[in-house]
Amino acid sequence: MRPEGGAPEKLRELRDEVKRNIDYRSFYLRYCPEARQNGARLQSLCPIPSHAHSGKGHPSLSIDLQQGLFNCFSREEGGDAITFYELMHGVSFARAVKELARELGLEGRRGRRPSLASASAPDSAEAEAENFAPLDSEQTAEVCSRFLEVCRVEEQLEGSAYLARRGVNAATARRAGVTYFPRRAYRRVMRRMLEGFSVETLRRAGLFNRKEHLTFYHHRLLFPFFVGGRPLYLQARTTAAGVEPRWHNMRGHVPALYNADSLQALASGSVVYLVEGFTDTLTLLANGFAAVGLVGAGGLKPEWLAPLGRFRVVAALDPDAAGRRAAARYRELFAARGLRLAVVELPSDVNDFFRHHPAAGLELELLTEKALEEVDSSQ
Ligand SMILES: [Zn+2]
Repeated sequence: MRPEGGAPEKLRELRDEVKRNIDYRSFYLRYCPEARQNGARLQSLCPIPSHAHSGKGHPSLSIDLQQGLFNCFSREEGGDAITFYELMHGVSFARAVKELARELGLEGRRGRRPSLASASAPDSAEAEAENFAPLDSEQTAEVCSRFLEVCRVEEQLEGSAYLARRGVNAATARRAGVTYFPRRAYRRVMRRMLEGFSVETLRRAGLFNRKEHLTFYHHRLLFPFFVGGRPLYLQARTTAAGVEPRWHNMRGHVPALYNADSLQALASGSVVYLVEGFTDTLTLLANGFAAVGLVGAGGLKPEWLAPLGRFRVVAALDPDAAGRRAAARYRELFAARGLRLAVVELPSDVNDFFRHHPAAGLELELLTEKALEEVDSSQ
């Protein structure tokens, strides 16, 4: 008998809401961080405790990311994400639904009191634009610095663990100014920000909403963008499974390539990688390479290229159609400024490559050498 067969109506509704809101990829990856993605499927060693797999041999767990269904063909057991949660945590259907709903911030929507999750929801773009001019860069830097300071004194453990699972060590994260705060510190962080700034300033920065709550509730792993040593912008990621959207940012525009500020200390002629996203950038930094990242929807702005002029820039984008298109476009942008861009293609994205290839650093160097030679000879 399906355990939820006799579940009360309310619980089934909540289950459906969980399913509407969950992001299957991040949900399953939390339990199977080493899973390989193949189209819309994940393939992984099966972590279900009661299956007591040896941890060796073929990955027996197959996950359909579209339907959110898993199947362990070694034990012939499968089901949906709720069942998976039940099996992983040894809890009942009811508890699985409730815990997942809480994680997704769904609980309390129908409750008597609005939850922090709903009070902290960011304002719509229209509401944001209504009355408030954005802050100038001086004020933005002040708010941003203070936010990072306030969060940095909180427990960093969950944030470090999240990054460590992706191969980014704590020292690298610290150097890049990545900062975390746990959800239990949410009210304290909010209070400390209010001690330093008026609500109006915080709203203009996009840190607070019209309910006068900090909007960084689900998204507490902060990636700052430094320009001239000052943080001028930040984007934040959720570390929980199934939260959509996964990113939230303060108001304003991405001011530079991610990590571009650190290039000032780098010798001219050095190799600098151009990658997509924070994780790939930090992965390269953690492995001793210099890298800058493109993040967000804004794309590459021509004015960001000038500071790259004195380096040998190598693009390492995802090995798919979109990555190839982007590489071709960036090459043109570079060429229009009289700059050259070498391109390497790895078998997977940078982070995945470094996690699965023991000699990744060496392989990257070899590919880079070849790509640079090609660029030089095509001059
Ligand atoms: Zn299994």
